[in-house]
Amino acid sequence: MRGRIHSIQSFSTLDGPGIRFVIFLQGCPLRCACCHNPDTWDPAGGTETDDGALLERVLRCRDYFGAEGGLTVSGGEPLLQSAFVRALFQRCRAEGIHTALDTSGCIVTDEALSVLDATDLCLLDHKMPTDALYRRHVGCPIAGPERFLRELDARGIDTWLRRVVIPTVTDDPDDLRALYALGERTRCVRKVELLPFRKLCQAKYDAMGIPFPFGHLPECQALPKL
Ligand code: SF4
Repeated sequence: MRGRIHSIQSFSTLDGPGIRFVIFLQGCPLRCACCHNPDTWDPAGGTETDDGALLERVLRCRDYFGAEGGLTVSGGEPLLQSAFVRALFQRCRAEGIHTALDTSGCIVTDEALSVLDATDLCLLDHKMPTDALYRRHVGCPIAGPERFLRELDARGIDTWLRRVVIPTVTDDPDDLRALYALGERTRCVRKVELLPFRKLCQAKYDAMGIPFPFGHLPECQALPKL
């Protein structure tokens, strides 16, 4: 099966447990104001490839994975290409390779949820604390990611909840405590991960000739102590 990818990182320690082979898929329906990868947005961009060729590249790196590592599919929004991700994950499963899906949870169709049949771990972005902030700074209602989390829980799929800590937007300690509380009361959640807001992506926006919506905000210097 063919799909469009943006890029590959063959050795990452930031995208799930252990050492990960990360495939960034092309295309995203959202427009997060903190997005680091605006060059992944265009679903017609990137490079077309097929799941068999990608699997071969993953297999070449499997000696590095150890007990915990494996493949992470990120984006863009990987569930825009659900059938492709499912095919790739199924091939990995057949090889005994751990599969992690890094998603915004905004696409909750039957086809998107079918990817979960071959997913070992979901890195679910819970980007904003309220529906109003989701609509304003992400471009979708909060209902999608919340339903996606319920689907993960119903299937018993290990989940890491993640949020980028953006000064003045998502750094309120009460909001972050509420995120931890959500993790506590949701059985499938194994970890809540806070990530500091960075602005390395400014150069990408400049090159694309579009404004970086959160370019005026400071970077997160230290994660809040809760
Ligand atoms: S979901 Fe990810 S790729 Fe899409 S706009 Fe948001 S941060 Fe960017």
